[in-house]
Amino acid sequence: MLALAGYPLGVRCVFLDSSPDAPAAELAPVLVGALDDPLRLAELAAQSDVVTFDWENVPGRALAPLEKLARIRPPRAALEVSQDRMREKALFTRLNIPVAAHAAIDGKDQCIRAVRKLGTPGVLKTRRLGYDGKGQFVLRDTTHIDEAWDSIGGRGLIYEAFQVFSREVSIVGARSASGQIVVYPLAANRHGGGILHYSIAPFSHPALERRATVYLKRVMHALRYVGVLAIEFFVVKGRLVANEMAPRVHNSGHWTIEGCVTSQFENHLRAICGLPLGSTRPLGHTAMVNFLGNMPDRDRLLGIDGLAFHDYGKAARPGRKLGHCTILKSRAKDRNLALADALTLIKWT
Ligand code: AMP
Repeated sequence: MLALAGYPLGVRCVFLDSSPDAPAAELAPVLVGALDDPLRLAELAAQSDVVTFDWENVPGRALAPLEKLARIRPPRAALEVSQDRMREKALFTRLNIPVAAHAAIDGKDQCIRAVRKLGTPGVLKTRRLGYDGKGQFVLRDTTHIDEAWDSIGGRGLIYEAFQVFSREVSIVGARSASGQIVVYPLAANRHGGGILHYSIAPFSHPALERRATVYLKRVMHALRYVGVLAIEFFVVKGRLVANEMAPRVHNSGHWTIEGCVTSQFENHLRAICGLPLGSTRPLGHTAMVNFLGNMPDRDRLLGIDGLAFHDYGKAARPGRKLGHCTILKSRAKDRNLALADALTLIKWT
């Protein structure tokens, strides 16, 4: 999606991926190698004016030597903060952004103490390399500690108080090297099993959107950020509680491809290439639905008026994001009806 956005701008991409059949290979040259392979990374840097990433588990350490060879945007510090849930929470707390009560866990005794202190329900998560609900265990009561420990126990964990939220929302924006910031309308997100099922945007809630924008800008300023940044929140009793940040284009921003004047992908490229940022004005009422585990019937979905279809060309695997569709309507009511139609044709597996 970055390569597609770059094409009309005259921005050409070259990718590094561990697999030769990466979706990007249909659009641009792909260097095949591990994401921390120093030779491949050096090759990538030599071919590039600027290096970016669209997955936050790229090893931050591997990027350090590249900083001498190419511009790395967003900054490596942002990537490293987002890779450790404790560091992420420490940053949010330092910036006065509310987070769930939490504790670092490096052993079972510590886990028992944390569960006693913070109570149940709670979520035991790996601090690193967890995303889309991977590496998480919900403890409904203290009798689940053994089961949780058998499932993901070890070092480098975090225990978080369970947030009883009315909604999950996310804010996505871009900051340029000169400090220009643009922010997209707030999106409301529905997850299942820890993975995003669909987003609705703009989610009209001016007070929450204003607050989320303030928090996003605080993080951008603190990290001297360049590129697209997303923050996901729980809405708890009308108040935002930050869950996590993503230093990259974000799934809850995919709707901006059809739903806004400038997509998050284009604004990410504009930001990292030193170009002026584009308008984030919404063009109507949008819903974005992920295709997970299997591809739906394309031809039937295309029968829904205002629907755009995106097939990433990936092999099917349970829970894998294989594509998405976006519905754009001028009225929220029509968007909701079309979304309901689309959901009858999409099964998440
Ligand atoms: P994460 O990988 O942290 O984004 O978690 C994935 C999803 O799991 C979130 O979007 C929530 O739906 C759920 N979840 C994660 N942490 C919590 C929590 N502390 N309380 C309630 N739900 C959570």
